[in-house]
Amino acid sequence: MALTAAIVAVGSEMLGLGREDTNGPHITERLLDVGVSTLSRVVVADDRRTLVSVLRAALDTADVVVVTGGLGPTCDDLTREATAQALDRGLRRDPAALDTLRQRFAHYGRTMAAVNEQQADVIEGAILLPNPIGTAPGQYLDLGAERSLFLLPGPPHEMKGLLESDVLPALRERAGGTVIARRQLRVAATGESDVEQIAGPIYSRVDNPRTTILSAAGDVELDFVATDISLEAAQDRADALAREVESALGARVYSDDGRRLHEVVAGLLAEQGRTLALAESCTGGLIAGRLTAVPGASTFLDRGFVTYSNASKAQELAIDPALIERHGAVSEEVARAMANGARRVAQTDVGIGVTGIAGPDGGTPEKPVGLVYIALAGLGGDIVRRCRFVGERERVRVQAVQVALELLRRALLGLPPL
Ligand code: ATP
Repeated sequence: MALTAAIVAVGSEMLGLGREDTNGPHITERLLDVGVSTLSRVVVADDRRTLVSVLRAALDTADVVVVTGGLGPTCDDLTREATAQALDRGLRRDPAALDTLRQRFAHYGRTMAAVNEQQADVIEGAILLPNPIGTAPGQYLDLGAERSLFLLPGPPHEMKGLLESDVLPALRERAGGTVIARRQLRVAATGESDVEQIAGPIYSRVDNPRTTILSAAGDVELDFVATDISLEAAQDRADALAREVESALGARVYSDDGRRLHEVVAGLLAEQGRTLALAESCTGGLIAGRLTAVPGASTFLDRGFVTYSNASKAQELAIDPALIERHGAVSEEVARAMANGARRVAQTDVGIGVTGIAGPDGGTPEKPVGLVYIALAGLGGDIVRRCRFVGERERVRVQAVQVALELLRRALLGLPPL
């Protein structure tokens, strides 16, 4: 059985909009690397009662509790006191730690204020973890029966230092040589429930690997996390299940190595020596933005037009204004003309055209918000997809980008279109 963890991030500032708890996700990832899986992650205000209760719950459920923040010298730094209270243990001022603190201040030519002395308070039975880059040392408590607790400073670089030097080596040993390996599959332009329907019956048969499905706009990620006694054995487990799920999902899987859709498409365009031109209306250059995020995009991307107005569609892409007049700017015909126009003007192998209504305004009963036409011209095809996306403006735009890239990926691979 893998060890379990509870992570507590202390600091009222992370409950507002200003500051994010980045320590928690980082610790979760690193613990997983040494075979410890996280059961809970909580952000707590600088409030003693709440902190004591959250700590008690964490100590009750997990083998390892990692607390970050609240080890400073000010009166809202309550982690030491609250942890001692949650454990029913006392605090003692450690003379050696006090000395180290004083020396540190002296080194920088400063006199230590009296409030700083509490940073040398140690919970009964705890071992101090020296913090070479900050004033607050960490603390480690072996609670017996395979349970332990770590207090780490809040500043991310200090926390990371102690995590790597003290926490992970201790846990790696405790995890009894359990090693973790992962494999990830990604699917675009398919709903999470459609993916789950196909993949669920396969992955739910086994506990190891553990599978999670995460979905974002137009993108679904399947994560397979396996544990075993060697990296090779764990990787084999993760790969075997991923392969089984991949063969059931078929051509929908665009990546099995962590690459995102635009990276895969960019790779295919570069590999095949194909050139591309884009004509974007409602996506306003987002497709170009994604593709040019990949180094070397100039080898395949000739240009991108952001043709928002009817006049620009006519001027830049040589689309007949009468066509726009007849069918409306958001129509199958105009999307097709945009893809063909971009391709013709830029003289590329492929052209993509996107036109739609991202909202929140501009919808009508015949052409509602979320309606987007996506066209691809070239590579032996002339395809237009009519999509009805759900969600607010940004989500509609991102989904349109995903469908456009997925259409292109399939065309480049000679797969049946979406
Ligand atoms: P210090 O001795 O520096 O006061 P501390 O352990 O008391 O250390 P905090 O005062 O709680 O740490 O936090 C110091 C700074 O570290 C915060 O202002 C914040 O920028 C950052 N920080 C604290 N906790 C987190 C967290 N969970 N994620 C990201 N940043 C954090």
